[in-house]
Amino acid sequence: MSVYAVKEMFLTLQGEGLQAGRRAVFLRFAGCNLWSGREQDRADAACTFCDTDFVGTNGDGGGKFADAAALADAVRAMWDTWMEDPVDGAFVVITGGEPMLQLDTALIDALHARRIEIAVESNGTLPAVPGIDWLCISPKQGTEIVQRSGDELKLVWPQPGSDYAAMEQWDFTHRLIQPMDNASQRDNIAAAIKFVILHPKWRLSTQVHKSLGLR
Ligand code: SF4
Repeated sequence: MSVYAVKEMFLTLQGEGLQAGRRAVFLRFAGCNLWSGREQDRADAACTFCDTDFVGTNGDGGGKFADAAALADAVRAMWDTWMEDPVDGAFVVITGGEPMLQLDTALIDALHARRIEIAVESNGTLPAVPGIDWLCISPKQGTEIVQRSGDELKLVWPQPGSDYAAMEQWDFTHRLIQPMDNASQRDNIAAAIKFVILHPKWRLSTQVHKSLGLR
């Protein structure tokens, strides 16, 4: 039996990628294998451009969940918010941090048993647990990507040195370029647009939730 450490959980609309615009419960697991989450460690981390707080379990809807059933019940209850008559079509986006550090078959099965479709966003350095309905992998330059198949490959751009030509040989249905959200965002957007113009196997993904004021 696992104890799951969840940073936060909230109801929103998915803001990026091919599933953008869908009503979704966001389940953010605590912890990542590529950065401690502490600013003093960022410069030396394997991933240096993170825009997410995934440390601890103190966010809205966060906490420690004793087992898969407890966490799946919480996801289902959050999905049912404002629903007079709960319907099918429940959708959870499991992210982090790095969700593959905690996601396991017990939780996949518990969510499916509650008729919840499961999307996962991972950095790809750990193998994906079977049973995920929509798998998005977002590679970070300089890391070893072991998960080279899925539904969506999302490359945050620019990441100098990224071997996008090799990534085109990986087994993904969709390939996305997403401008990096940092102080150079305007330049990053221009670079991402130029990339897609030159490499039409990729398409642009923008973080719609940020311009809409969604979480
Ligand atoms: S891999 Fe993802 S969660 Fe981890 S530090 Fe990088 S951007 Fe943040």
